[in-house]
Amino acid sequence: MRKIFYLGIIIIIGSILSSCATAPIKPPVYLPKEIYPQPTGLVSRHDVFHIVAPGETLWRISKMYDVPMQNILQANSLKNKAELEKGQRLLVPNAAPIVPVISLYPSRKWKYIIIHHSATDEGSSLYFDKYHYSKGWEGLGYHFVITNGTKGKQDGQIEVSPRWLKQEYGSHCKASGMNNRAIGICLVGNFNTEEVSKKQLDALVYLVGLLRKHYRIPLTKILGHSQVYEAKTDCPGKKFPWRELKSRLIQ
Ligand SMILES: [Zn+2]
Repeated sequence: MRKIFYLGIIIIIGSILSSCATAPIKPPVYLPKEIYPQPTGLVSRHDVFHIVAPGETLWRISKMYDVPMQNILQANSLKNKAELEKGQRLLVPNAAPIVPVISLYPSRKWKYIIIHHSATDEGSSLYFDKYHYSKGWEGLGYHFVITNGTKGKQDGQIEVSPRWLKQEYGSHCKASGMNNRAIGICLVGNFNTEEVSKKQLDALVYLVGLLRKHYRIPLTKILGHSQVYEAKTDCPGKKFPWRELKSRLIQ
């Protein structure tokens, strides 16, 4: 399970120059077998319910659970994949343990990674998407959300935001112009009062490790929201485990 989790990456290679991208990007997909092994017969499989997150397609859900798209369509009496809507409850038959499907795009605009907490006990990308719309933003402001086992998501699950899939700028840190040059990652929880869960930290180490390698982001440019010049916040909280994160990132 752990191995599959850490190797669950899909690299998308395409000539994507994303400064003005608003439509979903559909580059050719490259699935290198050595870093994306299919689950073996040893994994335990179960029927699961999945709430469709913003930006999720049938293809993405099929990869996350290693279940053919056709099987998901049939189990839900759907005729075509275009019928999916965010918030929809889907039966995923005979699903393998979930793996993150992280697409890495060619881009030169990502110079920083900014880490946030949600300052809420519960959350998911769908939940924050609704909240950010209610504030007048264009939906979920982060690029990734790492969940804590609430709102129907697993502890340590990495959710990919539509902003990442479309390679759009964030709406998570206005200070120092970070919205235009930083990848925004939000961990669900309030880390002024709670600890980051082990699974959330494992997921964060995995995700930041991938991103910083691909975009050549030095450790000095991996910051908490509160560490950004002129950001007036205590995000991601006093208990955020900076020392452990940084020591694991350089291993
Ligand atoms: Zn923040």
